[in-house]
Formats: sequence, C-alpha cells, structure tokens
Amino acid sequence: MSFAASNESVHVRAPGKINVYLGVGGRHDDGYHALATVFQAVSLYEDVVARQADDFSVTVRGAAEADAVPLDDRNLAMRAAKLLATAAEYDGGVALEIRKSVPVAGGMGGGSADAAAALVACDALWGTGFSPARLHDLAARLGADVPFALHGGTAVGTGRGDQLNPALARGRFDWVLVTSDEGLSTPVVYAELDRLRDEEGALADDPALSLDVPIPVLQALRSGDATQLAASLHNDLESAALSRRPDLQETLRHGIRAGALAGVVSGSGPTVALLCADPDVAEAVRSTLSEAGREALHVHGPVPGARIVG
Ligand code: ATP
Repeated sequence: MSFAASNESVHVRAPGKINVYLGVGGRHDDGYHALATVFQAVSLYEDVVARQADDFSVTVRGAAEADAVPLDDRNLAMRAAKLLATAAEYDGGVALEIRKSVPVAGGMGGGSADAAAALVACDALWGTGFSPARLHDLAARLGADVPFALHGGTAVGTGRGDQLNPALARGRFDWVLVTSDEGLSTPVVYAELDRLRDEEGALADDPALSLDVPIPVLQALRSGDATQLAASLHNDLESAALSRRPDLQETLRHGIRAGALAGVVSGSGPTVALLCADPDVAEAVRSTLSEAGREALHVHGPVPGARIVG
C-alpha cells in the first residue's frame, strides 16, 4: 500500500534511560531473565531524522563509538522502520540519520531510543497513523527497552522489562552520568551474572520467574526526595558489571567523595549514574569528576519519551 507522504522529513528525539532499580530473577527457557525494574528517562537524547527515500538506509554520527553501530538490518532503528513498513503495508523506504548522544553499549538503552524514535518518525513521515497502542506492540517486538523509550517518564518494567506501568515520580531528580569510552555487551554481563550465581549456588534451587519492584523504591520516587531514593538504588547486574570492569568501583567511590548521595551502574553498564541532592550539587560533582579526567554529564529525569521536534 502507498500512503500520501505527509512530510519530506521528520525529526524525532528520544531519551536514554537509567535503571533506578533492577532486579534480575531466574532464566526462562527462552534464555531471557525475569526482570523487575524501574526506568527513568533522562535528558540525554538520541535524535533521529527520517527522510523520504525509495530504499532503507541508515547513517550514524555523534558518539565516540558510532563506528561500532551496525548500518544494516542489525541496526535497531532500521529494524523498527522495516517492521512498521511491513505492518502498514507501506512499499516505500526511508533514509534514517541517527545523531547519537547516548553512549553506545553504555547500559542506557541508546539503540532502543533509536528504535522508538524511528517508529514515531516513520509513522509521521509515511502518514501511517498507527495508534500509540499499536506502536507499543511493535516496540515490544523490537526489544525489551523499546516500549519504555516510546513512553519515557518513570515506569516499572516487569516480565522481560517490557510490561510497563507508569510510576508516580514527584519533581525532578539530578544525576551525574559517568560514561566509558568502551561499552559492555549486555549478553556478556548477563552471562557473567549467571556464572557468579552458579558459583555462589544462589538461586540454584528456587529461581524466581516473576519479580516485583520493592515498595520502598516506589515510595521514594513518589516522595520526590533524592535522599530517600538514594537509599533505594539497586542493580542486580552491578556485581557482574563490576566483575568485568573492576575500575567502575572506583568511579562509584569517586562520585560519592565528590558529593553524590549514591551511585549505581545503569543497566548492564558501564555507565555509572550518581544521584545528587539538587542541580547545584550535581553541577559541582560533574565539574570535580571532569577535572579529574572522567567523562561526566549532568542530566535530569524524568523526561518524556520519543517526540517529534519542531
Ligand atoms: P541494551 O539496550 O542491550 O541494554 P545498551 O543500552 O547497553 O544496550 P546500545 O547502545 O543500545 O547499548 O546497543 C548495544 C549494541 O546494539 C551495540 O553494541 C550495537 O552493536 C547494537 N545496535 C544496534 N542498533 C543500534 C543503534 N541504533 N545504536 C546503538 N547500537 C545499536
């Protein structure tokens, strides 16, 4: 089917995420782990521009590791565009330009943000007019973090992280992100977690195949109190990420010494997220870490999900 083109190009911005809480349960038969997580979308964005074209193509600029991003059907944004075209029976193509700010393989869902942005951009470019629920279904087929990048804000993810429910979060939280030049592969970190758990015998008898986010985490988000949230930050993948990247332990300590309330490895790492009491403290922490030669960024959350710009 061919649709009347509504625009020559569409620009969409989608946020990276931090996992404020990440509980990892047992592994299902299909290889996926049961998750209970709280995502928060933060003010570090991917920009995707979609232009009318006969074929499908993708270009990537920006991040230090942009070279590591595939430009073929392995690219999540390309897969998103093709999935939407198939679902809509659209017979044209699209030229996607991705401007990356979220670190590649950084545990911040940059590829997922690109996929969410590509869905929204192509839907507008092609005049597909899919409902948010239909776009959500397509997003879930692309990856566990993609639905969240579409919605943004603060949300609880269960199942594989893709069953989303909005979480009430009052006010704004200030974070300092410490990024790494070299990424960590998500499958490698999960495999390391399995290895560590096998070694310890943990979960061997009773692996929980369904998990919940602890109530105090949700209460802390509702309170809007950074000190309360700092006490609830937790990531079951952190020990595995630290096992692969022991230097991150020093990054966490350095952040606390510089004035952060608490720190956590985001998702599968290696990005470290440091929660600060307010914007001024966050700026001071960022500046101390930057002066010590670390890549540090001050961001805030929650922010909205994938949105058309301009
Ligand atoms: P995950 O979402 O698995 O936690 P991540 O946030 O750590 O991953 P991403 O930057 O999203 O990291 O991507 C991880 C890998 O996915 C990259 O190393 C790359 O090979 C592949 N990839 C596919 N499409 C993209 C994309 N658009 N941007 C970045 N990486 C992509």
